[in-house]
Amino acid sequence: MERVIKKFYIYILSMIAAATGLWTCMQINVQADEPVIVVIDPGHGGKNLGAEYDEYTEKDMTLIVARAMKEELEKYDDIIVYLTHDSDVDMSIKDRALFAKERNADFLFCLHFNSSVNHNLYGAEVWVSAFGDYYIKGRQFAEISMDIFEDMGLYSRGIKTRLNDKEENYYGILRYCTEEGIPAALIEHCHLDQENDKPFYQQSEEQLEEFGRKDAEAAAKYLGLKSAQTGVDYSDFPKADVPFQEIVRPDRSEPEVCEIEILDIDEESGTATISMHAEDSESYILYYSYSLDGGYTYTELFSWPRPVWNQSEPMCIFDIQLPFDKGIELRAIAYNGFDVVSESNIIDIPPIAEPKPSEEPEMEDENIEYEDLQEFIFDDIEDSADTQETTWLIVFILIISLIMAVVFFAMIRMLFKLKRYSKRRR
Ligand SMILES: [Zn+2]
Repeated sequence: MERVIKKFYIYILSMIAAATGLWTCMQINVQADEPVIVVIDPGHGGKNLGAEYDEYTEKDMTLIVARAMKEELEKYDDIIVYLTHDSDVDMSIKDRALFAKERNADFLFCLHFNSSVNHNLYGAEVWVSAFGDYYIKGRQFAEISMDIFEDMGLYSRGIKTRLNDKEENYYGILRYCTEEGIPAALIEHCHLDQENDKPFYQQSEEQLEEFGRKDAEAAAKYLGLKSAQTGVDYSDFPKADVPFQEIVRPDRSEPEVCEIEILDIDEESGTATISMHAEDSESYILYYSYSLDGGYTYTELFSWPRPVWNQSEPMCIFDIQLPFDKGIELRAIAYNGFDVVSESNIIDIPPIAEPKPSEEPEMEDENIEYEDLQEFIFDDIEDSADTQETTWLIVFILIISLIMAVVFFAMIRMLFKLKRYSKRRR
């Protein structure tokens, strides 16, 4: 009887185990079938205009990009896409994060355009939360997004974190989203106030929509979406392997190395070849710029050679144009990935003489003159030779003429003598 009860218990226990397993599997299946919820936040709106440059206003641009991104994302299967706002309205940053929280969002994409105080920065950047899993998720999306921006031809300003004095995320949308448990990324597509970036948005509104479609592509790849409508399948799209860190702090220190050296000066053209050595162990070198007037004015920012966005070459070799007849004080600046700068050593370059355009021909003239002189001398010699020949010819002709005259007179005389002789004989 005891054995029967034991068997019965085992039977009941295995039934419970099987039911639990089945239930877990069903749960997983249910979760897999749940749609992905995406919230797109067009930066600014209403009285908050965002960046303004020429006739461009950020809040109008982000709305166009966001609508195009939504439209593109909705082509994928099992996705629900919301915009935090679809019209030109004021909306606090906290409300945007709460909007995403209420809709149980899997990710919030916050769209912006940039500008800088000195109107000199250019390129695309993505800001992510500095904390743990939020950093990992943000970074994994941003890696995909940055690849797409670089393929479009934009200069990568990198994927970054920024903290305020309280060691919280500096950007409100990332701070509130992290607080509400929503992974997020803040995309700064390009700069409105710098020539390098203008070709990416100033041709037509279509370019802004293209930004939206590219953002959708990055989001779809990150979320592993597929579309029955278009046939695109990103379900196996690889994500970067990002190690977990409690907090990822931005690089606030300047590049440790920033040195310049003159490799060569071509005095004819006034071109100096400069070798610049710059390194930043905590991030990478992003731009460089130089000054010929001791740091009073600087050139535009040039791209530093980087094999990938977060690694920079130690050296950059470039040519500068020296002014003639004027000494200069050369110095350079290296910008790291967080726009923190280091100044180089100063090199005094003494004036180089301007190769006077009149001098060269003068030299040629002198040569010509010398050649002329030579030609003239030789001509003279030839002339004198000619004269001598002529003189000799005249003398010769005169002598011949004289001889002929003498012979002629002798013959005449002989004829007369013969005539007289013959008369006498008769
Ligand atoms: Zn903005």
